[in-house]
Amino acid sequence: MDLQSLLEKMERVAKERNAPIFLHKAKLEPYQILIATVLSSRTRDEQTAKAVEKLFSRAKGIEDIAKMKVEEIEELIKSVGFYRVKARRIKEIAEILSRRKFPETFEELTQLPGVGRKTANIVLAYLGKPAIAVDTHVHRISNRIGLVKTKTPEKTEEELRKIFPTELWEKVNYVFVGFGQTVCLPRNPKCSECPIGDVCQKNII
Ligand code: SF4
Repeated sequence: MDLQSLLEKMERVAKERNAPIFLHKAKLEPYQILIATVLSSRTRDEQTAKAVEKLFSRAKGIEDIAKMKVEEIEELIKSVGFYRVKARRIKEIAEILSRRKFPETFEELTQLPGVGRKTANIVLAYLGKPAIAVDTHVHRISNRIGLVKTKTPEKTEEELRKIFPTELWEKVNYVFVGFGQTVCLPRNPKCSECPIGDVCQKNII
């Protein structure tokens, strides 16, 4: 399978269909990507997008979030799941980041409150560093296509690191997410409109 061409086809169709990830990615700062990813945990993309929009239209920088009361953050992000816990995490992260340089390694990022493997990898890839972030879209689509046969996102990440050349790692997450938001949907994927149907093994999970 030509992986570069696979990614290009997925990216093209996702962009043509205005996948939300491309709209947000284009205008967010690294700290905003970090916070948006914390918000997205166990939440549908549309609900995350609402919270991102509200929070960042109120806060113009990380310092603004650090100064907010937890209750204010809760009010702005209440469209996402577990918003009370996330509001506390976001305030803690903002307080830490407003006092120091933005972290640029996996180890530094995962020391922040509530930041796990997936979030750290998303931020690293956004910063142009070699990382494959496996979220629900990447895990689902990799298995459907037949690139991997895995039960957990951790195992998927391990396998994708072996399959994709390092120079393509940073593209994997946002291309798969965009494709998952527009074509290879969690339920009822649009197989009849899919540009990679010829190579997909259609293992629907
Ligand atoms: S053919 Fe269907 S299941 Fe396979 S990648 Fe395309 S949309 Fe997803």
